[in-house]
Amino acid sequence: MIDTHAHLDFPDFKDEIKGVMERADHNGVKGVICVGISEKSSSDVLDIAGQYSQIWASAGIHPHDANNVSERYESVLEKLALSPQVVAIGETGLDYFKDRAPRELQQNVFRAQLRLALKVQKPVIIHCRDAYQELMKIMKEENIEQVGGILHCFSGDENFARQSLELGLYISFGGIITYPKAHRLREVVKIVPLDRIFVETDSPFLTPQPMRGKRNEPAYVKYNYDQIASLKNITREYLQTHCRRNLTNLFNITL
Ligand SMILES: [Zn+2]
Ligand SMILES: [Zn+2]
Repeated sequence: MIDTHAHLDFPDFKDEIKGVMERADHNGVKGVICVGISEKSSSDVLDIAGQYSQIWASAGIHPHDANNVSERYESVLEKLALSPQVVAIGETGLDYFKDRAPRELQQNVFRAQLRLALKVQKPVIIHCRDAYQELMKIMKEENIEQVGGILHCFSGDENFARQSLELGLYISFGGIITYPKAHRLREVVKIVPLDRIFVETDSPFLTPQPMRGKRNEPAYVKYNYDQIASLKNITREYLQTHCRRNLTNLFNITL
C-alpha cells in the first residue's frame, strides 16, 4: 500500500518517525508521500524523504498559509521542486470553509503553484473545502490537465468528482469515508474508477473509525483501503494493484 498524504514533519511525530515507518512497513505500507504546507515544512519533508527510502516529498503552500509566505516563496518552492525526491507541487488549493487567509490571496498563491507545476512538470496535490466552482475555474484556466494531480482527502459531491475526472485528475480518499455519517461520500467512492483512485491518511488528522481518538499514522491507511474495497466489492489486494499502477502513472514512482 501507499499513503499518498501524510504530514510526518508535524510536531505530533517529533522523534518518532522511525517507529511510525516501522509500523507502516509491518502493516504493508511501502510508500508515503510527505506533503509540505509552507516554505519551512516543504524543506523539512524533503529532509525526511532523504532519510527514508520509502518516503517521497512534495513542495507547496497550503491555502491556510497563503498569507504567510516570504517574498521569494516561488523561487524557494522551485528550488525544492527540482529535487528528484520531490514528486509533486502542493498541497495547494482553496479553503473557504476555514478562510484562514483572504480568498484573493489564496487564489493568487494557488495560481502561482499551478504555474510552477507546469514549469517543473510535476503533478499537483490539491486541497479544497467549500470552494469547488472557483477551484475548478482556476484549474482549467491554468491548464492543470498538462501535469495532472490529486484532489486530496476528497469531500466534494458527485458532480464535482465527475468534473474532476473529466479534467484527468485523480481522487484520493482519507479516513472520512469510514465515519458513520459519511453516506454521501461513500456513494462518491463508488463512481471513481480504479485507474483514478488513491488512498491516504492525512496523518496526524482524520484517524479512521476503528482507531478514532488516537493520532493518525500511515499504518492505519489499511482501514481506508478496506472501506473502499468493500464499497467496490473487490479485494484490498486488487485495489492495491491499481493504486500502485496509478502511482507510477502520475508520479513515476515504483514501489
Ligand atoms: Zn489538506
Ligand atoms: Zn494535508
